[in-house]
Amino acid sequence: MPELPDLTIVAEAFHAALAGRSVTLAEAPAPLAVRGTPAELKALVGQRIERIARRGKFLIIELERDAVVVNPMLTGRFQLAAPGTKHPTKTAVVLGFGPRAAPGVPRDAAKWTAGAPWLPADDASAEIRYRDPTQMGKVYLRPAGVDRPIPGLGAEQGPDADDPALTLDVWRSRIKRHPGELKNLLRNQAFVAGIGNAYSDEILHAARLLPLRTRASLAPEEVDELYTSMRTTLARAFDVLRERVPPTFEKQVRDFLAVHDKGGTPCPRCGTTITEIRPGGMITSYCRGCQR
Ligand SMILES: [Zn+2]
Repeated sequence: MPELPDLTIVAEAFHAALAGRSVTLAEAPAPLAVRGTPAELKALVGQRIERIARRGKFLIIELERDAVVVNPMLTGRFQLAAPGTKHPTKTAVVLGFGPRAAPGVPRDAAKWTAGAPWLPADDASAEIRYRDPTQMGKVYLRPAGVDRPIPGLGAEQGPDADDPALTLDVWRSRIKRHPGELKNLLRNQAFVAGIGNAYSDEILHAARLLPLRTRASLAPEEVDELYTSMRTTLARAFDVLRERVPPTFEKQVRDFLAVHDKGGTPCPRCGTTITEIRPGGMITSYCRGCQR
């Protein structure tokens, strides 16, 4: 499942590649993935992209009038490609974009994208293909003036896990309202947005805390350690993913993680064999040797 680090890389790359271009094509080969009408989809054509951003586990494409919001859920993935190349299987939605009018790459593009070889030339066209083999994800069309509800996006969301406004003080105060198990806490989008099954395991390993520990059992310094570990884990993931994901934005890079889905292999910190449990079919990995 794409989480905050994965979607941040996609959003930053797509913003750098596509902002300022106008939609030339909007098609839904798998229309069940789309929440919106065929007319609303068609009406995207001609609109310029203002911004591509991430909020929680959503990718948001802001056009000059309308918006498109994607919740990729478990298996949704995004490809950036040249028109005419073969679509991936199970492509649900294709958005095509024309050449970029002046002034080229947007000024607010993420610095790491500068001069990247995968950026389409300003005079070239480009496409986003959204594919989803399980069709669990959704592509929400948000035409101006249509208040289509998007479950999980909006007021019920907590701050993004990497939001600068989520300071240690804010963290200490927000976490008091959540007494439950730490893994569930980190995955609770109303507490903090963007973290899912994989990165919750990583953050807890970095913080040396067991996933089934409860927040109520934490000492104040452990509450602080959880915050610090969240930030350092995300920062490290950004560094790795920026290097390794482009230009195959549709591939999920997870092999660098320390514990998630690494059950049976030695813990990189202490060498103890990593434990894996599957409550409700969902993999949880942790180290009994160095997590308490
Ligand atoms: Zn360990």
